[in-house]
Amino acid sequence: MARLLILGGTAEAAELAARLAGDARLETVTSLAGLTRLPNVGAGRVRRGGFGGPDGLAAFLSDEGYDALIDATHPFAAQIAAHAAEASQKAKVPRVKLLRPPFERTAEDNFVPVQDVQAAADSLPEGARVFLAAGRREVAPFAARSDLWCLIRMIEPPTAGERLPQGEVILGRPPTDPAEEELLLREHQIGWIVSKDSGGRAAAKIIAARRLGLPVVLVERPKPPAGPTVENVDAVVDWIETTLFGEP
Ligand code: NAP
Repeated sequence: MARLLILGGTAEAAELAARLAGDARLETVTSLAGLTRLPNVGAGRVRRGGFGGPDGLAAFLSDEGYDALIDATHPFAAQIAAHAAEASQKAKVPRVKLLRPPFERTAEDNFVPVQDVQAAADSLPEGARVFLAAGRREVAPFAARSDLWCLIRMIEPPTAGERLPQGEVILGRPPTDPAEEELLLREHQIGWIVSKDSGGRAAAKIIAARRLGLPVVLVERPKPPAGPTVENVDAVVDWIETTLFGEP
């Protein structure tokens, strides 16, 4: 039986694990960083926590006898992606990167592309009212701008001492309905949205911004490591067939 390690933490990784669960030729393990309390893991075995860098991951792959590595981590998880590439070479275990395409660009979108979160904070005009939807760990450069008013959505409440920008925190997961997001943006008189170009199907916030004609400061993705990259779960399944079983 072939052993497959999926580096997960994304919806695609869960979908892939669920797809492969019925394949009797494969034993699949999903690896999670262990940051989220109730992650969606799809199916199959799960392990949690870092490997201790590329050497740790290479040793894990060799010691546990893995035959292939699927890096299905988030487009912005640049460190684990680089470690996966290095470890696969060291351990001589084939790897593929599953990288969903960036957000679609339509004529109605008003995207302001920037290199990183600091550039996003620098690009906002004086006194802007901002919906900060770039992720909880990315708020520091905005907290340093005392002229901004920021609406921040968090799944877990802020912890004591966590430095946040001036504004308001709302708790909850992002809605799937753009109308809900539109209402939120109107209610808080938001003029600017900051988001990562996480990609995939346009998120509700992106559609709501499009409908309201609001500019979205869009943080561009880090460049993925060299090597095979595919855009969806179907293509990973094809890659597994070809790589492990020699069939397209
Ligand atoms: P990162 O900065 O690229 O990685 C930091 C460290 O966390 C890695 O060096 C590795 O530790 C460990 N790690 C990350 N993903 C892991 C995994 N799947 N299994 C085991 N260890 C892992 O990653 P991140 O941006 O913190 O993201 C962490 C996880 O959250 C990823 O699995 C990612 O798919 C998911 N996620 C990230 C974002 C985002 O915007 N960055 C959004 C949604 C979901 P060692 O060096 O010790 O091995």
